[in-house]
Amino acid sequence: MYQVLARKYRPKTFDEVIGQDDIVKTLKNAVDSDRIAHAYIFSGTRGVGKTSIARILARSINCEKGPASNPCGVCHACVEMLNGNSVDIIEIDGASNTGVDDIRELKENIMYSPQSLKYKIYIIDEVHMLSKNAFNALLKTLEEPPEHVKFIFATTEIYKVPETILSRCQRFTFKRIAPSVVYLKLKEIAGEEKIEISDENLMTIASLSDGSLRDALSTFDTVISYYGKEIKEDVGAILGITGKDTVKKITEYIFKKDYESSIKVINDIYIAGTDIRQFIRQLAFFLRNILVLKLNYKSIISDMLEADVNSLIPLAELKGEAEILDMIDILLEADGRYQRVTSPLLMMELVIFRLIGTPSKMEIKAILEKLDNIDKLEKIDSINNLPNLERKYSSGNIGADSINNINNINNSNNKNNINNISANNQISKSSIEENNINTKDAATNSIKDKDKSTDKDTEKNIDKNKEKEKILNNSGGIGGNAAVSNPILADGEDFLDHIDSITNKNENKKTVYKQDLIKKNAGLNDSKNIINSNSNSDNNDIGDDYTADYEEYINTDKRNDYNSKLINNVSNIDNKIINANADKAYIAEDKLNNNKGGNSNNDGAMIRNLFEEIFDGFIEDIKD
Ligand SMILES: [Zn+2]
Repeated sequence: MYQVLARKYRPKTFDEVIGQDDIVKTLKNAVDSDRIAHAYIFSGTRGVGKTSIARILARSINCEKGPASNPCGVCHACVEMLNGNSVDIIEIDGASNTGVDDIRELKENIMYSPQSLKYKIYIIDEVHMLSKNAFNALLKTLEEPPEHVKFIFATTEIYKVPETILSRCQRFTFKRIAPSVVYLKLKEIAGEEKIEISDENLMTIASLSDGSLRDALSTFDTVISYYGKEIKEDVGAILGITGKDTVKKITEYIFKKDYESSIKVINDIYIAGTDIRQFIRQLAFFLRNILVLKLNYKSIISDMLEADVNSLIPLAELKGEAEILDMIDILLEADGRYQRVTSPLLMMELVIFRLIGTPSKMEIKAILEKLDNIDKLEKIDSINNLPNLERKYSSGNIGADSINNINNINNSNNKNNINNISANNQISKSSIEENNINTKDAATNSIKDKDKSTDKDTEKNIDKNKEKEKILNNSGGIGGNAAVSNPILADGEDFLDHIDSITNKNENKKTVYKQDLIKKNAGLNDSKNIINSNSNSDNNDIGDDYTADYEEYINTDKRNDYNSKLINNVSNIDNKIINANADKAYIAEDKLNNNKGGNSNNDGAMIRNLFEEIFDGFIEDIKD
């Protein structure tokens, strides 16, 4: 006699159960250690093994050689139970025995001892369907169950079962069975049934089962009925789903923004009679797998074969994570709206347009950075204060400090000390000279370097101004507010840099200058110290000669030239900084004023343009 696969392959021992390892382990321990509760409740989706495990547990408890987690299968009790002839195993369908009368009858029967087994076992399926009165009647029994009775309840909707019942039961939550686990079971059964079917087709059946082995086996039965024992075609067609290759193909078209080919595929799917809603879900899951792959969680993709997962890699490289996430969102939204649309084809075409039009997005981190910058911009904003802030940094401190320091160098006590010098050795003289020369060189070089870098900064600013002029000219100049503010918007990056420079660069420059001047002073102080230490020497004669020499040296034109050059250079640098910063300040002021002058949409437009610019850059990154 023909038996459907789901019945034929229903597990008869704990070891044959798949996908519920924790529950099996716990129950086996309970049976083997003879710690069996008087009531259990199993919850979980359909076809995951609740009833099967209830029956296995009933046999384990009642086997004459038990209780044993592996009932012998040959004793009188086992045979009776396996054949389903035992009057002591009472299976009740909660859905059809919901009344209080049914439960009253149950209560009366419960009092009698089992006829042939050790325990009377009540297996009540879909227990959540019982009426309130039935639950109340059941509760009395559950509170004080007779020694010879065990209850096993099963439900797909645990939240409908009253708490008073739940609290008197041991609860087990059954998991959905992973498609990869279902797939292996199907493969095993296909082998036993001598059915020729490809791994891809078995995986298609497994992934359609939604974690239910019973559903998968029913689907497998359907496929076998249709194709016979040699299944060569893609089974998707008769199961009302779209073939994997088609899903992959349309994803590729969407990623490559190929409208024409995408729409053509959708029309083919529609004409083939495929359920469009099913297709939407398939596509969503497919994109989900690509996303998972991108995030390097390949191991959690359980509804695809390893080779198929690897074939997604080129697709995964075409899109960003945020973008794929958005696309999945669009599909889920379409799934939710499906029942309210009159033309699924039209809706699907619109969905495709939206998928293709999904704007490229930068990574979350980059977005946060940009938002942070905008936030900073707003804080500094105080439109009127901005230029003043810059001037304050640029004009006063650096310039004045530098000049004062230089004056200090000039007015140093070197001269006076030198008068007292005792030049009893040439070494000290040359060491002083060397020291001074070194100090001079160092100062000169550092000034030269500063000149160079300041020049570069100035050149950079000139270039930037030129660019801005260019943009201004291109944008058509006058016209509305938008036209005026556009060049600034296009230059958003620069603007943010500029804001940074106000807060950071000036501080840095100031510090560098101060450090340089401190170093210079330190050099001169070293000379001073050497001179001082030498001044205590007894050899005043030679000292006088040296003093004269040295006075001559420091009074030479060369020395004066050097000093004035030093002053000039430093004040040149200061002027350059002042000018450069003033330029920047005016540019910033212009920008802010232009922006301020624009209509209120300009802020939004500015941020949007900023983002667009960033998005473009992101696309370029992806292309690279
Ligand atoms: Zn037995």
